[in-house]
Order: sequence, then C-alpha cells, then structure tokens
Amino acid sequence: MKRKWLATLVVMACAQLGVQHAQAAGVTDAMIENDAASTGDVLSYGLGTQGQRHSTLTSINPDTIKNLVPVWSMSFGGEKQRGQQSQPLVHEGKMYVTASYSRIFAVDTKTGKKLWKYEHRLPEGIMPCCDVINRGAAIYDNLVIFGTLDAQLVALDKDTGKVVWRDKIDDYKAGYSYTAAPLIAEGLLLTGVSGGEFGVVGRVEARDPKTGKMVWIRPMIEGHVGQKFDKDGKASDNGMTGKLNATWPGEMWKTGGAATWLGGTYDAKTKLAYFGTGNPGPWNSHLRKGDNLYSASTVALDVKSGQIKWHYQTTPNDGWDFDGVNELVTFDMDGKRMGAKADRNGFFYILDAENGKFENAFPFVTKVTWAKGIDKSGKPILDPDNRPGDPTAGDGKKGKQVFAAPSFLGGKNQMPMAYSPQTGLFYVPANEWGMDIWNEPITYKKGAAYLGAGFTIKPLYDDYIGALRAIDPKTGKVAWEVKNEAPLWGGVLTTAGNLVFWGTPEGYLKAADAKTGKVVWQFQTGSGVVAAPITWEENGEQYLTVVSGWGGAVPLWGGDVAKKVNFLEQGGSVWTFKLHK
Ligand code: CA
Ligand code: CA
Repeated sequence: MKRKWLATLVVMACAQLGVQHAQAAGVTDAMIENDAASTGDVLSYGLGTQGQRHSTLTSINPDTIKNLVPVWSMSFGGEKQRGQQSQPLVHEGKMYVTASYSRIFAVDTKTGKKLWKYEHRLPEGIMPCCDVINRGAAIYDNLVIFGTLDAQLVALDKDTGKVVWRDKIDDYKAGYSYTAAPLIAEGLLLTGVSGGEFGVVGRVEARDPKTGKMVWIRPMIEGHVGQKFDKDGKASDNGMTGKLNATWPGEMWKTGGAATWLGGTYDAKTKLAYFGTGNPGPWNSHLRKGDNLYSASTVALDVKSGQIKWHYQTTPNDGWDFDGVNELVTFDMDGKRMGAKADRNGFFYILDAENGKFENAFPFVTKVTWAKGIDKSGKPILDPDNRPGDPTAGDGKKGKQVFAAPSFLGGKNQMPMAYSPQTGLFYVPANEWGMDIWNEPITYKKGAAYLGAGFTIKPLYDDYIGALRAIDPKTGKVAWEVKNEAPLWGGVLTTAGNLVFWGTPEGYLKAADAKTGKVVWQFQTGSGVVAAPITWEENGEQYLTVVSGWGGAVPLWGGDVAKKVNFLEQGGSVWTFKLHK
C-alpha cells in the first residue's frame, strides 16, 4: 500500500515537472486539449475546443454573487470604437484580447495594466460585411495568433507583442476578410474565411502555428479541389470536395459561398474539427437549383488529412441567408458523443458527433415559417409558399415577396451558446424576428455584394426580441427563459457554481441561476455587450471578464430592429470582476 502511494507521488511529481517544463516552453497541445478542465487559464475560444463554455469553478455562485465587483476596466482607446465581440484568452497572469479594427492587447490580469498592443495597419477598401469586429485570438507555444479584416493572419510573441510571422489568407479586394478566433487542434492552426456575401468560396486551412506554413486547404463547395503541402511548401492535389455539379447547376459552384466565417470547434475524442458553412451565393436560390452542398452545413474534418469525414446540411438550397456557421458543441448524451447546434434557421439540431447521423431537431424560437419541421431523416419539410419567389416568373425584376421567420440574422447568430454538464442544459441566446424578403436578378462581379435579394428585418413582438433560453437537448423543452428588449448578440458562459452569464446590448452583464433562470446579479458596463464572458482562477480567487462595446451586424443590417435600438452607444472596454472580501 505504502509503496503504491509512493509510486503515485513520484508519478505526480514527474507530471508536475512535465507541466512546468511545458509552461516554460509555452502553450502545448496537451494544455489546449485540457483547457476545459484547467481552471487557471483560458486557452481557447469556447473555454475548451469543444465549445461548451463551461467552467468547473464554484466560488462565484448564487449565494456569493452579491459580492461580485469590478476589479479593473481597460479602454481599447482610439477614435474608432464599434462592435467588440472578442472572447479574451488568459495565460500565466496575462490576458490577450482583440478589439475592433484588427487590434490585440496584452493586459495584466490582476491590475488591468496594458503590457503591449498591436494595431494592424488596414488598407483602404476592406470589405467586412458585418462591422469591423474580431472574435478573439489563439495561443500556441510562445505565440498569440489572430486574423485581420484584410484577410491576414498575424502571429505575435506573447511576451513582447512583436510580429513573428504573418500570412495572407486571400485578396481583401475580392471580399475576403477574417474575424473568427483561430482554432488549434492536433498541433495545427485551423482557420476559415469570411466573405460569403461577396461570392467567395469558403474553405478551411491548416497551418503550422509556429511558422504559418500551409499544411492543407479544404474548399467547402463541391467541385473545388483540396490541396496539401509538403515541407518545402509544394502543393499537391488532396482530392475534390464532393462531386462536381451533383448539387449545383452549371458554373454557379465557382462563386458558391459557404464562407467558414465563424471558425470551428474540435473534439479530441472524435478527432474531428467541426466547421459551419455560410449561405450559398447568391441569396436568390432560384439561380442555383439543387441542395448546393456544402453550404449551410456542418462539415466534420479529419484534422490530420484535411478530408471531410461527414457533413450535415441544415438548410438545403437556402433562400433566406440561413448561414449554417453556428458552432457545433460536442457533449455526452445517453452514453454517446453528440453535437448540438442552434442554427440560424430556427432549429436546434442533435447529431452523432462521430458520424454526423441525425438524431433530433426542434425549433428553439417561437416562429419558423420556411419549414414545417424536420423529418426523421433530418431533412426539412419545406413550405414552398414561404420561399421568396423567382423574379423570372414575373416581371423579371422582383420576385414574390414573403414574410419569413426567423430573419436572416437568425434564431441565433454568431453569439456562442453554453452547455452545462451539471444541469444537462444548453443556454442559447435566441432572437425573435422576421423579415420581408424578395429576390432580384444578380450576376457575379468581383468584390461586389452577391445577393440578388432585398429585405427588411422586423421584430415579431413589441416587448422583446432577445431571449436567453435554457434548452433540454433530450426533449427540446425550454426549461426557462429570460427575455430581453434588444436582440441578444453576446455569448454565454456557465459554471459549476450554478450560474449562467450573458451580456445585453443595453450594457448589462447578467447572471442567472442555471437551474431556475432567476436573475441574481447584473452590472452596467457602459456600452452594449456583444461578446462572450470568461472565467478563471488566480491565487485561489475566481475572476470573471467580459468585453463591452455595442455594434456588430444588427445596427448595420437590422432594418426596423436597427431603428428600434439606435439609441445604444458604442464603446470599447474590458471589465474584470471578482468577489469582494
Ligand atoms: Ca483552462
Ligand atoms: Ca450570410
């Protein structure tokens, strides 16, 4: 017995030495894989690459939260503020947080003191569709890596802020940009592209995070051929995505959209990276009869090979701009690894994370007009009367207008949901809105909007648009909801302290009891919150951080809803809280 205990001690000591050694060398794959469980840091977008946004920390809870107070606030400064959608990372007492206009800051976690700042020099003529936002960085080895609005990746020394490598993703003049937080999986840096409204072709790219050297490229539209690269950077064929013209007419696949603009999640158990793909281009669905694979889908990629393992399309032949980019969050249910996704199209999907097999789907918003439901095979039961009409069926200029719900900004958009293994509930920032939408003729022109549609977004109800909903993935039942007047646009965090945190455009960071939904705390941050909160611990104390700064797609694209919330003020700051003793 004694000997066994000693052996365990030795193993533990070695493990600790190993960890210390690894930390001295920077952030390792093992540390990123363990991110959800390690409470002293936040090393990935999603507090773990599975994207559950769950922390096991408990000292902030419904009993103690009355003592939660700000420790520091830091301004991003600058004349230009706009939407702040960044989820910060935390490592060894330093916070890495991105800001609007492709900026990144390193900050002392205890004092809020700025350690360094990098401001990317942006050219004239960048074309971000939906505000000049950034959602966060990745951290690997001694580098922090983030993407820019002119479609570049920049890797900086995490201690000095000096640029170590830089790589161009694509031509910003063709509509490419980059706003997602990069994903690290199996020692590779995985990124997508933004630009789905400009007829770009979505793809996932894998690079060596230490050097930026390309490893493979996987296009998301069938007919395009993937590439792999040898050590000298020489490209070779890595197989075609799908089958040419199987679900696309003529040449339309060449500008087919499916932008991977929200990045991906990764599950170390399935060894798959899950990327969502955006709308097919153009919006006018009558110009591209067929399912238009792999647009508006979740695509599961084998990280090592860059091959597609499975796909699941949520909106075939999308005619409503229902980008399928929303995060697939993997979790355990009934002894199986599942993936859950709250799609822009208003349905919440449960898939088998190993093979993509459809398990269940149910609406998570009150009104869905485009489909009557999802059949047993996982295909939507379409309502043909609610598809915007073909312009060529009438005067050739404007097709039949319909009122569709959700609106194209979605039942849920970029703001990530959270999952609690304690309660077994998903916490989904949902919105209730619809739109008048109609089709128009369109032809592709490089760098020009590729829509072929007109639209006006409208609220469905007078008293609220946003609703934070606690959803049981087994039944589809809403356990509780907290309504919000403005549309919710910020992500969610849940903790083993039985709490759920989320922000509102009205400026509040709120906390509710995870089981009952009772709001137990709120704090006014001075501008709208459209980012996701994080939590971690340092010297035995639990910290909580959220970025504040109103903006994003709603003020730009929100139609009647944008008018309704035009009193909200912009900002740009980081707020950090802990319990007052
Ligand atoms: Ca961690
Ligand atoms: Ca879109």
